[in-house]
Amino acid sequence: MLEPDRETRREWTDAVGAFVEDFVAGLAKAPASEPAPADLTEFLAEPPERPGTFDDLLATFGRAAGYAVETAGPGYLGYFPAGGLLSSVLAETLAQAVNRFTGVADTAPALVAMEHAVIRWFCRRFDLPDGAGGVITSGASLATLAALTTAREDRLGGPDPLGTIYVTEHTHYCVAKAARIAGFTSAQVRVVPVDDDLRMDLAAAEALIADDRDRGLRPFFLVGTAGSTSTGTVDPLDALGALAAREDLWFHVDGAYGGSFQLTDRGRAILHGVHRADSITLDPHKSLFLPYGTGLLLVRDEARLRAAHAADGHYLQDLDREHDLPDYGDLGPELTREYRGLRLWLPLHLHGVAAFRAELDEKLDLAALVHRELSAEGNLEVPLVPDLTVTVFRSPFGDATTERLLERINGTRRIFLSSTRLDGKHTLRLCVLSHRTHRAHVEEALDIVRRAARES
Ligand SMILES: *Cc1c(COP(=O)(O)O)cnc(C)c1O
Repeated sequence: MLEPDRETRREWTDAVGAFVEDFVAGLAKAPASEPAPADLTEFLAEPPERPGTFDDLLATFGRAAGYAVETAGPGYLGYFPAGGLLSSVLAETLAQAVNRFTGVADTAPALVAMEHAVIRWFCRRFDLPDGAGGVITSGASLATLAALTTAREDRLGGPDPLGTIYVTEHTHYCVAKAARIAGFTSAQVRVVPVDDDLRMDLAAAEALIADDRDRGLRPFFLVGTAGSTSTGTVDPLDALGALAAREDLWFHVDGAYGGSFQLTDRGRAILHGVHRADSITLDPHKSLFLPYGTGLLLVRDEARLRAAHAADGHYLQDLDREHDLPDYGDLGPELTREYRGLRLWLPLHLHGVAAFRAELDEKLDLAALVHRELSAEGNLEVPLVPDLTVTVFRSPFGDATTERLLERINGTRRIFLSSTRLDGKHTLRLCVLSHRTHRAHVEEALDIVRRAARES
């Protein structure tokens, strides 16, 4: 009953294919956001006893997906836009269709080899040494948890009420969350001041670490952010890496947003020193344009990641675990997981690496254009030069005007921006990152912002 016949299979896959094609083709004209109706009863229906109709259910899904911020479209400039590469969508469908078990290598070694090759390729991009490795996760949050757990085991030998972690107020909260899950209190997460450019202040970090040591604490984990969430700011990675080495701390680089820019020359220059990292998180579902659900953890020494996570059970005794391929179930919190490797493998092999580099370079150029144009607008305050592709700005007339500005901008439903707080002030951010956002979209966005600024 659950396995459709050949004809039905064709009908369903054709319907899904047509849906996807219509969706992608419609993105150019789709509104940047679509408010949901007050009454969501239709979407709260419980599963029936009797079978439904595929076309009707697909239509329900289509309507539900429509009531949303159009995160896949070219006008999405809020948070971190990714778009969602079609090649990766198809890769995911293929991976799910064959439904291979890749929690250990033995049950699908060639597929694991493909995933392994992708991870090794990323490690080389960051100049990590032989012995480096990693795991593809559902996102940077889970990758950060695995990194912090590994550092805790490696540097402290387990949970320790004296262990201390160093972040700034601009570090993503996933570090504090991971710390909580990994058994640390919020007092063990030390917030280092930032300089005027919002980068971790090196001297302040040094002083805080020394002070903590004097108090008998055990500093062990230093986080450098390669592209902060609010402003895309990159911490001084080289200096922080050197500090971590001097102090024997685990150096973690959060490159969830900015890490992928390592593929470009400008990115490599800005991320200088990232090779010193003991662990790096990346979010291909941000700056490699993949659909949501793909994060990446790279570690300098895969053996340490394994030491922190490996486990065994009698029910796995039939498997050969002695080989050169990683058993991904030993490298993170998950055992069973979807075969995530193909999501990266297919796009990278199909489009070629140069296509990704060109796309990221284009985003850097467009962000520079945004910064230039908005800085020239008298009705706006632009407090920072972007390191990567996030430009922040606000009204010089205070929070209320800035909030109204955002309403005006998003109210056009041509683009969608998000906001943050900076220097205690409500501040808007415009992030160019989707593979579907090009120069014409950015020029339209600039027109919209300028017009709104003059009216607010
Ligand atoms: C998005 C983000 C995260 C969290 O990643 P998820 O994939 O949402 O779990 C961590 N750090 C930075 C800098 C981010 O931008």
